[in-house]
Amino acid sequence: MSSFAIRLFGDPVLRQPTRPVTEIDAAIVRLCEEMIETMYAAPGVGLAANQVGVAKRLFVYDVGEGPGVVINPELVETDGTWSYFEGCLSVPELAWDIARPKTVHLRGIGLDGEELDIEADELLARCFLHEVDHLDGILVTERLDPEQRKEAMRVLRQRAVGSSSLVAPAARSDL
Ligand code: ZN
Repeated sequence: MSSFAIRLFGDPVLRQPTRPVTEIDAAIVRLCEEMIETMYAAPGVGLAANQVGVAKRLFVYDVGEGPGVVINPELVETDGTWSYFEGCLSVPELAWDIARPKTVHLRGIGLDGEELDIEADELLARCFLHEVDHLDGILVTERLDPEQRKEAMRVLRQRAVGSSSLVAPAARSDL
C-alpha cells in the first residue's frame, strides 16, 4: 500500500468544496485505507480527502480510539465553546489556540454504507469541525482571530521565500 503526499497551504484543491460520494465502491475503500496510512505517517489525527488532492466529501480520523471514516459528513448541531491548540497537516509546523464548539452532532455514512450518527466532545468534536471545514474548502487559517491571522500570514509569507524559523508548540493535534 502506498501513501499520499499531503497538499499544502496555497494548493487550490484545499479551497474547493468537495463533491458528495454517490457510491462506496472498491476505489473509495482503497482511498480511505491509503488516507488512514497517510494520516498515521504524518502523523495526524484527521485527514480530509482534498488534503490528498481528491475532491470527494469524506475524511478519516483517529483521536486515539482506532481509525474511523465518515463519508458525506454533515454537522447537525454544535454546542458550547472549547479552546485547544490546533494544527493542520496542510499548514505544517504551526498551531494556534482556537476556540470552537465543544460538542458536535455529526451525521454521515460509514465505509460499510451504514448511516452514522455521532455525538462528539472535545478533541473528537474538534477533529470533526476541522475536517468538515476542509471538505467545505475552509482552512484553519480562516478560524484565527485577527492577531493570530496576521502572524500566520507573516510566517507563511516568509516560508514561501524559505526563511521561516517558527516552530509550533509540541502539545497540539494536527488535523
Ligand atoms: Zn487540516
